[in-house]
Amino acid sequence: MKTINIPAQTVPVYAETDVLVVGSGPGGLSAAISCARAGVETMLVERYGCFGGNLTHVGVEGIAWYRRPETVDVEGIGIEFETRAKAQNASYDEPQSTSQGINSELFKVLADNWVQEEGIRPLLHATAVDVLIEDDKITGVVFQSKEGRFAVLAKRVIDATGDADLAKMAGAPVVKTPKEQMMAVTVMFSCSGVDKARFLDYVNENPMSYMDWGKEWAITTDGKEDDLFSPYLDEPFEQAREKGLIPPGLKTIGGTWSGISDRGDATYLNMVHMGGYDGTDVFDLTRAEIEGRRQAMLAIKALNHFAPGFENAGLRNFGMTLGIRDTRKINGRYNLTEKDVRNQARFDDAIGIFPEFIDGYGLLILPTTGRYFHVPYGALVPRKIDNLLVAGRSIGGDQISHASVRNMMCCTVAGQGAGVAAAVSIKKNTTTADVSLSCVQEELKRQGVRII
Ligand SMILES: Cc1cc2nc3c(=O)[nH]c(=O)nc-3n(C[C@H](O)[C@H](O)[C@H](O)COP(=O)(O)OP(=O)(O)OC[C@H]3O[C@@H](n4cnc5c(N)ncnc54)[C@H](O)[C@@H]3O)c2cc1C
Repeated sequence: MKTINIPAQTVPVYAETDVLVVGSGPGGLSAAISCARAGVETMLVERYGCFGGNLTHVGVEGIAWYRRPETVDVEGIGIEFETRAKAQNASYDEPQSTSQGINSELFKVLADNWVQEEGIRPLLHATAVDVLIEDDKITGVVFQSKEGRFAVLAKRVIDATGDADLAKMAGAPVVKTPKEQMMAVTVMFSCSGVDKARFLDYVNENPMSYMDWGKEWAITTDGKEDDLFSPYLDEPFEQAREKGLIPPGLKTIGGTWSGISDRGDATYLNMVHMGGYDGTDVFDLTRAEIEGRRQAMLAIKALNHFAPGFENAGLRNFGMTLGIRDTRKINGRYNLTEKDVRNQARFDDAIGIFPEFIDGYGLLILPTTGRYFHVPYGALVPRKIDNLLVAGRSIGGDQISHASVRNMMCCTVAGQGAGVAAAVSIKKNTTTADVSLSCVQEELKRQGVRII
């Protein structure tokens, strides 16, 4: 490919902080909140106009749809996402679990208030584009805004971009699944004008289960999931294919619904799953946004014709951006494995727990028992760079472990661990790589996290 050189620039320093968190999804938000709660100066920078990551930008509302009565679940900031949303009328009873679905629009306001209440310094509309490095430490991050470039200097940095952007910029080793194997991307959409009672009657008369996922997606379960109710829909799309409303070969339409409000808003329609796109490739992103919106409109047409209750429904909105499940991960000090997440792994450096919930790469396991694994600190620690931690879906691990830790609740576990570790390392004057794990665990416990 043809290349050009960009001249070196002098850029203003907009801020200096002890801990800089870049990216504000479940991972980054939890990192910033826990760091501030540990009493350390924290700044949170986000490229879009609101906090929340996939939860708000894409509209992913099911933070704990895995939860069943027997589940031994995480404790900590992730649970606060649900309890705060419920207390602020920003949630609904999620249809397949004992959890709350979070209203992704109202969560934007909730997050605004939460960040300010915790004393975090917020900055929106700034994209990290480079890092400043001295002696294997990041000394600052360069951001791009409408005004141009500027720097924020920091003693510790948390990469919560979901794509390990900063780790890659800093030269820490990262890995990426080959594009053909990457999890599908989704244009999320929601509809208004749904006749809720009529649709729920249809669902009751035609109940779907997790076994039905296997019709469109090659899925293996433990067997115990197969007969459980799932808010999954494929029949309307099958009928639409038969009647020529959707091209017969287009198998990427079909999936799950979640909240339907009394006003008739069906939010979180997760019904377009397209493989073969790399969420770090700008040309793939462009193609997927365009193709995803096209497919979402076909899905709505199919729902109008073949899903009772959706006859008069119309598009309410698309997610603010394409939903990406799977890109870069760090090659961490420890990389979680399939064996770990399927066999209740225990680690001395645990920073939290996560139930045995795996969703992706052809596997669906729900925590219908009390099984859970430890999330190890080592998976948050990149190699080579001493004061950088990663929070959220890009922590170190293989494909099946990713299908577990990518889930938002687990991202909050990694986030809280990273935020507390960064804060403790500042207070104790150590690197994040060498931070005292007993001090980190002590502070996590003080913050209400279940570690063992
Ligand atoms: C369609 C879809 C459905 C899903 N369904 C579920 C579900 O039902 N339940 C569940 O638990 N999980 C689900 N997931 C997975 C889950 O949403 C993600 O894995 C999770 O949100 C990842 O959290 P994160 O904090 O690591 O990253 P993200 O939520 O992606 O947040 C990353 C943040 O960093 C910002 N950012 C990125 N790069 C930069 C940069 N260079 N500079 C500044 N800011 C930057 C982004 O704008 C974003 O706000 C789904 C994912 C998708 C795409």
